[in-house]
Amino acid sequence: MAVRTDASGLRLGKYSLGVGDRFAQQARAQLRACIEAAAAGIEIIPVWNKSNREHNIVGSEPAGVREAAEAAVRELGWKFPFHVDADHIGLQTVDQFLESSDFFTLDVADAIGRAAEPAEVEAFAARHPELCGTIELEGIAEPLTLTREDAMCAAEKYLGAVREAGRIYRHIAERKGTGTFITEVSMDESDAPQTPPELLVILAAISDEGIPAQTIAPKFSGRFNKGVDYVGAPEQFEREFRADVAVIAHAVARFGLPDNLKLSVHTGSDKFSIYPAIRRVLEESGAGVHLKTAGTTWLEELIGLAEAGGEALDLAKEVYRGAYERRSELCGPYAAVIDIDAARLPSPGAVAGWSSEQFAAALRHDPACPDFNPHFRQLLHVGYKIAAEMGSRYLEMLRAAEEPVSRNVTYNLYQRHIRPLFPRTLH
Ligand SMILES: [Zn+2]
Repeated sequence: MAVRTDASGLRLGKYSLGVGDRFAQQARAQLRACIEAAAAGIEIIPVWNKSNREHNIVGSEPAGVREAAEAAVRELGWKFPFHVDADHIGLQTVDQFLESSDFFTLDVADAIGRAAEPAEVEAFAARHPELCGTIELEGIAEPLTLTREDAMCAAEKYLGAVREAGRIYRHIAERKGTGTFITEVSMDESDAPQTPPELLVILAAISDEGIPAQTIAPKFSGRFNKGVDYVGAPEQFEREFRADVAVIAHAVARFGLPDNLKLSVHTGSDKFSIYPAIRRVLEESGAGVHLKTAGTTWLEELIGLAEAGGEALDLAKEVYRGAYERRSELCGPYAAVIDIDAARLPSPGAVAGWSSEQFAAALRHDPACPDFNPHFRQLLHVGYKIAAEMGSRYLEMLRAAEEPVSRNVTYNLYQRHIRPLFPRTLH
């Protein structure tokens, strides 16, 4: 069974940016970054994403994400599409997102390796003889080579996860209607990366399952720690990313998947050292990409508060003190994606004496700045629960410091993310 998406269905544009907004206060500042991009000839579709985990920690509801996005779009007169992403959902968590989201990230990482029936794996291999042998892909010099054993092995590992994605997809489609939402399949929060040949097998299975995926988020090689740069060899990432793009183009043609299917890179914020690689591949292949970078905005809020000085700076320091004291609790849910050396965290007492500039310089993600402290930044990245617990006190301070906060949010998204990563689109 090959999938063909209905041409009238909701389609995600070629370049899209997943922006998170923990406290639903920065939608306008984020949209301004897309407006600046559009003025510079780069058409970016904003997607406001928020995971169930974030909603639980903040104590917010999915409807609030849409309200904030719609208000920003209305106020700033945004003429292009925008979407609201139920990020990293599963069958247990999707229902509360059904009404407000039109983009669903089906997280099936936990189902990877769930034993598939041997008969199922046999049937898959029999249905897909084209997966075995040497597969020439446009855009990469080395062909993929898969033996029947490789294909069976990958099928065994991933069929259960793709089946799970199918169950979630159908659950949503039965309630919202086919073609009314964008589907992403995500496997990024798993232990081992998926290789390009495995991605090909996964896409064949996604087609068999009838999932009209428009984006797919594999786990790439290297570490994607929260809030800080990529840890790994950018050249190796580039080879893998280029091969994945070629695999997707092949799979679209071969398996009839949606023709706008593209990679989704869940960055965990700020993977600056691989942006040039991504951009090169996009330029040479003409492929699109979806970039998710959620937590970066919350850290810009803190930088803006620090810059505002006075009580706002005190509040930013108070957030750090709380995060420092409760670091084991806050780091727990993110253990696999942070790498904090406690010995390199400044004491809250020391931070209490910092100026606006010192706080901002330690936090701002400028790897060339000698005062930048990635440990401080990672801890604050996962420390948003402290701000959430401050409730209206935090939100009121954000509003009082709106100018520096929104200036930092817009600048960060446009200058550090959009400009280095996305090629110009022709109008
Ligand atoms: Zn992710």
